[in-house]
Amino acid sequence: MSPQSGDGNSSQASGPPNENAPAFAPRDFKSGRKPIWCPGCGDYGVLTALYRALSILGRPPEEIAFVSGIGCSGRISGYVKSFGFNALHGRALPIAQGIKLARPDLLVLAAGGDGDGFSIGGGHIAHAARRNIDITYLVLDNLIYGLTKGQLSPTSKQGLSTASSPGGSLEKPINPVLTTLAAGASFVAQGTPADLDGLARLIVEAVRFHGFAFLNIHTPCVTFGQPEESIRLQKEHMHSLDEFKHDPTDYFRALRLAADRGSKLYTGVFYRNPRGEEELSRQIREQNEAARGGAPAPDRGKILERFQIGPKNG
Ligand code: SF4
Repeated sequence: MSPQSGDGNSSQASGPPNENAPAFAPRDFKSGRKPIWCPGCGDYGVLTALYRALSILGRPPEEIAFVSGIGCSGRISGYVKSFGFNALHGRALPIAQGIKLARPDLLVLAAGGDGDGFSIGGGHIAHAARRNIDITYLVLDNLIYGLTKGQLSPTSKQGLSTASSPGGSLEKPINPVLTTLAAGASFVAQGTPADLDGLARLIVEAVRFHGFAFLNIHTPCVTFGQPEESIRLQKEHMHSLDEFKHDPTDYFRALRLAADRGSKLYTGVFYRNPRGEEELSRQIREQNEAARGGAPAPDRGKILERFQIGPKNG
């Protein structure tokens, strides 16, 4: 691998990719593994949008690291040609942040489901938001635990009954967009595979943002989910925030829109911190450079040797 200079979004900062003539086609990011999601699962659309976005971003697969959690959505990193890591349940975010700190030249993506992000790994979002390390986090929010056959997830609707909760959910669902905004995330957006082009654009915008970017993606679970979450009905209910002339630098309006869930499915960027250059990543980078006294970064091979299992370490 030949790392590029600068920070991770320097990928993006090294010059906007020419979207009319991308260096890569979406198919260049297919890993060759055949997705095994249920036929009609919304995750197929998310994957298609991601391939498109990566081709627009113009970074080669060897300059991308993709970490995912556990769940149906956790499979997604295996379907993308890039460095990949399928983390423990709920732990995609800390691993992605660690990769970014060690390899700021990489484009780092993390992905997981609503359970992974807001239940098992729920504590990590607030810290990723306040650290503001330059990674993009995609939550494939299908409002249910699909992989384990349809139990209530933290975003399941109140009253929803499932095989394991026949009396219906008594708990209010977490609102991912509102929660992440309240945690102070610098970039918060929402999309759906019901609008593939719009979703691809949002992924591009999230990756190009300098800092922690959160994208909640409403992706229907056709096997255990609710009929009203189908792609067809999402198309009827979705509204681009552009329709409301929303200014994404208006934090308080973003909070109000996020709180107004009603029957509408808002898509677009709720909030983008106008501060521009992501400050904490820059400070960390400067501290690392100062600590090394201008010396080159240590040889990663030598560091890894210390942890090698096998004949060398007995
Ligand atoms: Fe998709 Fe649901 Fe099937 Fe999982 S169980 S692959 S989320 S349709």
